[in-house]
Amino acid sequence: MNETDRIVIVGGGHAGAQLCSVLAEAGLGGRVDLVCEELELPYQRPPLSKAFLEKADEPLQPLRGQAWYRDAGITVHLSDAVISIDREARSVRLRSGAVLDYRRLVLATGTRARRLPHLPDGLHNVASLRTSADAQRLRQQIMEAGSVTVLGGGFIGLEIAATARALGKPVSVFEAASRLLTRSVSAELAEHVRQTHLAAGIDLRLGVAAGGFVVDGERLVSLQVDGHAEPVELLVLGVGAVSEHALASEAGLHCENGIVVDAFMRTSDSSILAIGDCAMFPESRSGRSLRLESVQNANDQARTAAATLAGREEPYRALPWFWSEQGSMRLQMAGLMPADGVRHRRPGATRTSFSILHYLGDELVCVESINAPIDHMAARKLLEAKVSPAPALACDPAIALKAHL
Ligand code: FAD
Repeated sequence: MNETDRIVIVGGGHAGAQLCSVLAEAGLGGRVDLVCEELELPYQRPPLSKAFLEKADEPLQPLRGQAWYRDAGITVHLSDAVISIDREARSVRLRSGAVLDYRRLVLATGTRARRLPHLPDGLHNVASLRTSADAQRLRQQIMEAGSVTVLGGGFIGLEIAATARALGKPVSVFEAASRLLTRSVSAELAEHVRQTHLAAGIDLRLGVAAGGFVVDGERLVSLQVDGHAEPVELLVLGVGAVSEHALASEAGLHCENGIVVDAFMRTSDSSILAIGDCAMFPESRSGRSLRLESVQNANDQARTAAATLAGREEPYRALPWFWSEQGSMRLQMAGLMPADGVRHRRPGATRTSFSILHYLGDELVCVESINAPIDHMAARKLLEAKVSPAPALACDPAIALKAHL
């Protein structure tokens, strides 16, 4: 086993970049290697389906500039990927051929867009959205298409549909479930979202079986929707994301619907941690295993991982919160929606703003808001007070990390 003191972070998304920040604040940047598969330094991903997709002159928003990484002493490997982990030797091999030794390895590999088994790869008019390169390509495709078809009524599908509509395109959304956003919001909120998209002119069809793709050369011509052929100019797949854990699973780490970690972000090999969208962790209230796809979760798990690297056992207990922007709606959630419970609707300041408060018994557990940011912030404060905050290493920079590593 080698004697390196290096921390290698795999994946330059929100989680990897946040971990760099915490380590740099603790004066440990000089020990960190960040391996980023994408061409750019870590950037804000949420705008990809919103302002960045809509406006060609909207710049990509880096989370930190090049000078910051240089000054922090962090070695960034751009446009390169880790292709294998040698747990015995504690090293990773990069696509470029480089080998990096590590003392601790952190996997922050995120997710990739789910594909459909019967749809061939590489069709010119089929798109999905994960990276800035995908967003630039999709913007061009939307501009050139006479109409846009979105498969899937989840957050990303609906955000893209709203953006394409704002760009003046006729848009259809096909969703297999009987309502929108099944996995994450209440039926009442989902119905409001549906009505708003219908009012904006989006052709939104629920409970439909879509499949049966007709391909001509490198283009998709049509898809069958409830037995009818629907012509397709541009098909956007919004059918969810799967965790990017092939690397972990090939290295023999325990993986299920993500890389399985404990409350301290440790995988089944305690020298390897996993954080962000790729990590499946025990939720602190229910103890059930969860994988969350949100900027909050990526950032807060990075803080927990930094504490673990410092030898401080501080379990992940951060309050989940999330936002989505779809046309005229800003949807925000604080807490996890209970499967059952009591709902109370609180009207907002305008006709199009309100919040839904969810209670389990007497206890407030989740608040969903539409165009009501003040409610959302108040709910976060209230709910956050009930859970321990994520550890803040920044206020104690000299610390444990140095001593421990
Ligand atoms: P990612 O940000 O996905 O980063 C993972 C990185 O790892 C990627 O750059 C990937 O290329 C890289 N990688 C993977 N494998 C390797 C490898 N072997 N070697 C090197 N690098 C590798 N969340 C919200 O809270 N609000 C929103 O409004 C919102 N909007 C979104 C809109 C879009 C279009 C998308 C795609 C996501 C959105 N999200 C939103 C989700 C949010 O962006 C993610 O939850 C967050 O980016 C997760 O951070 P992460 O670091 O875990 O993963």
